[in-house]
Amino acid sequence: MVKAIVGANWGDEGKGKMTDLLAEQSDIVVRFQGGANAGHTIINEYGRFALHTLPSGVFYKHITNVIGNGVALDIHKLAEEITSLETAGVPAPNLIISERAQLLMPYHILQDTYEEERLGGHAFGSTKSGIAPFYSDKYAKIGIQVCDLFHEDRLREHLEHAVSIKNILFQTMYHKPTVDVEALFAELLQLREIIRPYVGDAVTFLHEACQANRAILLEGQLGAMKDPDLGIVPMTTSSHTLAAFGCVGAPVPPTSVEEIICVSKAYSSCVGSQTEPFVSEVLGEAGDELRRRGGDKGEFGATTGRPRRVGWFDTVATRYGCMIQGATQVALTCLDVLSYLDEIPVCTGYEIQGQVTKQFPVPALLEQAKPVFTVLPGWKTDIRGVTDYQALPANAKAYVDFIEKEIETPIHIVSTGPKRHEIAMRP
Ligand code: GDP
Repeated sequence: MVKAIVGANWGDEGKGKMTDLLAEQSDIVVRFQGGANAGHTIINEYGRFALHTLPSGVFYKHITNVIGNGVALDIHKLAEEITSLETAGVPAPNLIISERAQLLMPYHILQDTYEEERLGGHAFGSTKSGIAPFYSDKYAKIGIQVCDLFHEDRLREHLEHAVSIKNILFQTMYHKPTVDVEALFAELLQLREIIRPYVGDAVTFLHEACQANRAILLEGQLGAMKDPDLGIVPMTTSSHTLAAFGCVGAPVPPTSVEEIICVSKAYSSCVGSQTEPFVSEVLGEAGDELRRRGGDKGEFGATTGRPRRVGWFDTVATRYGCMIQGATQVALTCLDVLSYLDEIPVCTGYEIQGQVTKQFPVPALLEQAKPVFTVLPGWKTDIRGVTDYQALPANAKAYVDFIEKEIETPIHIVSTGPKRHEIAMRP
């Protein structure tokens, strides 16, 4: 039985917390896309963690964690994360790194950095983690798989080919130093030893686990708006952020996915460049206040520390996000954050060229969209940590009812705080 936890929006919806919570009843947690360019914040008995590459099941002894073939594996970052868990006293995780995953190379990070430099003011707001060059290389068929590390002749051959291309690019386009193949080859052999204990056949493992009806959680990174096909092109990430991609990037058979839990925040937040369309954005003092009160420590990127842009809940974007995710239910997080407001605007339509629509437009029109708000009354009561849904103030429940109706997807889980059990199940 496979469940996917994915984002309905721009990322940072609180998937880490939901995965950490649902992992309790799971046997296996799988990361199936993305790399170390975004983080999940998890707060539990060991402390506060920002996981970037490790699946969120690493805090449970009974869970096998899988880094699937769809992930961009940066071994340096992974090693740092494993060390940070050790330092905090977390028992060594059960981890399988797919031998078919590809390696995020130091030259991907350089390329990402050089390209952002070149673009200057027109930059995409990349985290410079090498993600776009990594996935470009995968599709250009010059990526290097984890299994190649254990076949040195093949590794050398593929590395020489990839580096020869990078060196032309680095010299002629960016006017930067070239990459030394020998030094990189030696570095990779060292990195290989860090991951050697974990490398395995994740494909067979997951298919057998499906046959044995084990509980598998697919953990998505970022959100629907960042999907390179169906998202806000080109302000997307470079791997598919949709649950469907779990069937390739984990992988699990498409017929095995029974539940798709789409996580959405009770307001909007987005990390990325200022040029990204973000229709329901709240600017000025009101925005500063929402940002300060948001999440568990204000809305600042888990990986980058960058202030996130914040906005009111956007039902147009979220209904679309739930649709393309194939959501069977929504987990609404951070409801507690809104408790300070007298009134809460919700973006329920986009005005484009004088017409109001509830359909999420193509990126070329999204830029022109102006928000149409419906204003709901606030509840002005601290609800942090409330676990009994019925005990929530009537206006808080009415807010959830309203959003549910607009996004046309049932909301089953409401999160009322950043900690694992600060959850109210909706009857
Ligand atoms: P992810 O990438 O989707 O896992 O999201 P992040 O971890 O980057 O961002 C979510 C932020 O919201 C983190 O700071 C969480 O600790 C916090 N968070 C999650 N759920 C809740 C909630 O219900 N209430 C509050 N106040 N914070 C929450």
